[in-house]
Amino acid sequence: MSFSTFGLSDEIIRAVTECGYTKPTPIQSQAIPAVLAGGDLLAGAQTGTGKTAGFTLPILHRLSDKNTKGPSGGRPPIRALVLVPTRELAAQVEESVRNYGKYLKLNSMIMIGGVNINPQISRLRGRVDILVATPGRLLDHVQQKTLSLSQIEILVLDEADRMLDMGFIRDIKKILALLPKKRQNLLFSATFSDEIQALADNLLDKPAMIEVARRNAITEMVTHVVHPVDRGRKRELLAHLIKQHGWSQVLVFTRTKHGANKLAEFLAANGISSLAIHGNKSQAARTRALAEFKTGSLQVLVATDIAARGIDISELPHVVNFELPNVPEDYVHRIGRTGRAGSEGDAVSLVCIDEHKLLTGIERLIKRELPSVIIAGFEPDPSIKAEPIKNGRGNSPGGSSPARNHSRKQTNNQKPTGKKAVGFGGGYSSGNQSPALRRSGGRGR
Ligand code: AMP
Repeated sequence: MSFSTFGLSDEIIRAVTECGYTKPTPIQSQAIPAVLAGGDLLAGAQTGTGKTAGFTLPILHRLSDKNTKGPSGGRPPIRALVLVPTRELAAQVEESVRNYGKYLKLNSMIMIGGVNINPQISRLRGRVDILVATPGRLLDHVQQKTLSLSQIEILVLDEADRMLDMGFIRDIKKILALLPKKRQNLLFSATFSDEIQALADNLLDKPAMIEVARRNAITEMVTHVVHPVDRGRKRELLAHLIKQHGWSQVLVFTRTKHGANKLAEFLAANGISSLAIHGNKSQAARTRALAEFKTGSLQVLVATDIAARGIDISELPHVVNFELPNVPEDYVHRIGRTGRAGSEGDAVSLVCIDEHKLLTGIERLIKRELPSVIIAGFEPDPSIKAEPIKNGRGNSPGGSSPARNHSRKQTNNQKPTGKKAVGFGGGYSSGNQSPALRRSGGRGR
């Protein structure tokens, strides 16, 4: 199949061809005709599947199609709204819209927090056809009456599961109330919890449902390994691995912002160029770190789950879970950063005794055991006892929940249990000792 079979305009095909895409990805093959047909859509797909072009190309076509009824008279209104959970993702999606739409007379705008609102207000005085926004800043504009959403024809909720995880449900509801009743709704989510289902039931009218296998490339192209290690020796082991293997572009995940900072400082002090990105960093600092990392001048980027969400770095070779995520689905999201576009990648997890239950949850979700390798010189000390994990999602007191990470302090309605994952179908339930650690001599609680 080629892009020309969808009936997309020549201008769009030309832009897509210039991007080097020769054939649509599975999500695109299904989403493009469904969106062109004008109905609602519920799509199970995560970053890395090509979902952005999956919704952007048909939206561009519909908005530029002379046969589709557009606005009549006056200043052209905003006609499509793409809501995304993070600033980084907003930047990527808006860039894609501009890229794919470069031969069309449509204008897009990014609207995110962390930057001065005034240039956005000026920009809104000009023509904007497609708005890509994070919910918080969008509502700031609504409050200041600098934005009207009364003529939105197409709404996209991208990474809806993550938006709910980040506590955006109330913001989303407020935004939905501002939109015209008659519109096309597209909901993309990597996982389907009960909350997502409820949102979909509420939002979508007889949606086309598509689901692409959750990047099976994850299992085929990515080498997973667990290194059991004591909690106090993780940083040393990470520095050792980076130096020993000569890794040059490593994305490292920590559970907390503080942990990300401390780790980046430790690595930098050990001669490994490293920066942290998380919600407390200014947008400029986050953008700069990401740019340096992408060009290869920065060896290690340490990120929290939220900050790393949606980051698209082609052919990222190494992802390290310095700490396992509290929510098993986040393991899949994290690993989704590597092994893309047919390239191979490593997913390395440094697992201490406190994290055995988390590992079991992940293995259940992905329905496979992760091979475990003890690194000589870093053997776990059998006398060390497991301790509760204090920081991170799902532990409220003193924790750094995604809702807290976000400046608009929302309630975190994430339930760590009972989530089902698209493609894997596995729910999460905490279990006993991980098979991987059992094999390696690690011990459960
Ligand atoms: P996404 O899942 O939208 O974040 O896209 C992941 C990556 O795949 C991006 O770098 C896109 O540029 C790339 N991509 C999207 N569609 C295609 C395609 N049909 N062929 C090759 N690469 C693509």
